[in-house]
Amino acid sequence: MHPHTVVDTHVVDTAARLRAAGLRVTDSRRAVVEALKERPHASADELFGIVARSVPGTSLQSVYNALGDFVDAGLARRIEPAGRPGLFELRVDDNHHHLICSECGAVQDVDCVVGEAPCLTPSDAHGYAVQAAEVTFWGVCPACATAGASTAEPATAARP
Ligand SMILES: [Zn+2]
Ligand SMILES: [Zn+2]
Repeated sequence: MHPHTVVDTHVVDTAARLRAAGLRVTDSRRAVVEALKERPHASADELFGIVARSVPGTSLQSVYNALGDFVDAGLARRIEPAGRPGLFELRVDDNHHHLICSECGAVQDVDCVVGEAPCLTPSDAHGYAVQAAEVTFWGVCPACATAGASTAEPATAARP
């Protein structure tokens, strides 16, 4: 092979990730990993929208199957904010938490408060061996706060 052959390292990396997780490399799985790289914290529906562009003919069910396999294999993590569809991400190697906007649903990663799980201990563990505390911070993102402020106040409001 010519030493200057252009290798798509992106694709190689994705296939290697799948194999390292013990999963067979298929076009749809590869496309779902690529979609997760492009859009962390996306729902299955959002990921399907991205995958359908690169691998036409992929079904929503195959995206759900791939995501389930990824979560089982430890390649992806599913977060389930209350009252919202499950969201998926490839950042699995730490105990990071999420900030979620209660108005627009924007999700932001935040490093673990303590650095390892469980980062909160129950006041009484009732004999349970506690493995993890799922922490979700709910609030209003800067964009929504700005939008809220600009509709609440006239643009010409004088500053104090
Ligand atoms: Zn927001
Ligand atoms: Zn995250």
